[in-house]
Amino acid sequence: MTEKTATQAAPVPSDHIMGVYNRTPLAFERGVGARLFTTDGEAYLDCMAGIAVNALGHANPKLVQAVKDQAEKLWHVSNIFTIPGQEKLAKVLTDATFADEVFFTNSGAEAIECAIKTARKYHWAKGHPERIDIIGFDGSFHGRTLAAVNASGNAAYLEGFGPRMPGFVQAKFGDMEGLKALVGPTTAAIIVEPVQGEGGARSLTEQQLQALRRLCDDTGTLLIYDEIQCGLGRTGKLFAYEWATDAAPDIMAIAKALGGGFPVGACLATAEAGQGMTVGSHGSTYGGNPLAMAVGLAAMEELNSPQLLAHVREVAGYFTQQLSGLQERFPDVVEDIRGKGLLIGIKLKTPNREFMQHARDQHMLIAGGGDNCVRLLPPLNLTLEEAQEAVAKLEAACEAARTQAKAAA
Ligand SMILES: *Cc1c(COP(=O)(O)O)cnc(C)c1O
Repeated sequence: MTEKTATQAAPVPSDHIMGVYNRTPLAFERGVGARLFTTDGEAYLDCMAGIAVNALGHANPKLVQAVKDQAEKLWHVSNIFTIPGQEKLAKVLTDATFADEVFFTNSGAEAIECAIKTARKYHWAKGHPERIDIIGFDGSFHGRTLAAVNASGNAAYLEGFGPRMPGFVQAKFGDMEGLKALVGPTTAAIIVEPVQGEGGARSLTEQQLQALRRLCDDTGTLLIYDEIQCGLGRTGKLFAYEWATDAAPDIMAIAKALGGGFPVGACLATAEAGQGMTVGSHGSTYGGNPLAMAVGLAAMEELNSPQLLAHVREVAGYFTQQLSGLQERFPDVVEDIRGKGLLIGIKLKTPNREFMQHARDQHMLIAGGGDNCVRLLPPLNLTLEEAQEAVAKLEAACEAARTQAKAAA
């Protein structure tokens, strides 16, 4: 009772922190693997992993060691100098993908900024400065910088921040015919998450990804994937676009899992798409500093392992099977199970905010999502036993949601 009252209380307003977050009063002190511990020692099963960031779990020994080792040598020098860690991590990323070159950032939104600038500069360098339009999709999320909110076109995130920026166009997610009609002589690029994260774990099909690629090829449009959330092993392949053949992008933004909790992002591009980005075009003070690169290298070594990716597919298969069982037993609570791999969306018939609280009552953490979804984004190395525990807690949350719905009726 006391716990419930505490967690359901309105967030405590802080005097000194800008009030942009709807926080629960839960505060964690330490974590290990998929387990988080509050300041008063209570354990929670973490099935949101810092919103797909702590993909290797909390306090992963390899990541901890990488930070320690590098912290004792060199943290930061500036991009005026050659940074060997950047060259190493860029080689790992380009060897593993479609890309030839990489720009390192500190966050996802910055990787998106770089992607948009790279696309526009490409057309400018090719003698087409009029090609500036970036086509994004409804329900997308690309981060919170002005360009990123304009690219996603989410009205709630644009409100109050002045006029829409020119050069951004919104298409309907999955509507390939509508999209074709929007591509014209001023189109620079199409930006899309192969699996939408915040929008509610909506996945494009293999055929849709291939159709996007063909449309871009036919019209000289660049294809940008935002794999900030769905990339880096989350779907059971290193990148979600790999599920489709012949659907690689020209430019891709990644972040989140890349640092496993340390802020690292990257914009990847083919040499062709990156040709406009010459000396002076772009930059970042912290981006790609030695400390970030050491963590990124350690994380990539773990994430790009066939064993881990096979494990993700196995645990994801277990969840899919168990969650459809829940959907059958709780048709009044669960409307749909969607997503890909360990980016799982549960579309609810009862309010998702309430459901997140029911999960927290079971000492389990899940993320919210658009379209009245909750998302499961557990660490990729979640064990099958932990997955069983998660399903049992979700079942109890479904019971609680049912009881609450009945009481309200
Ligand atoms: C989290 C996220 C971003 C923004 O990343 P930040 O690091 O918060 O700037 C962009 N796109 C997608 C798909 C994301 O999930």
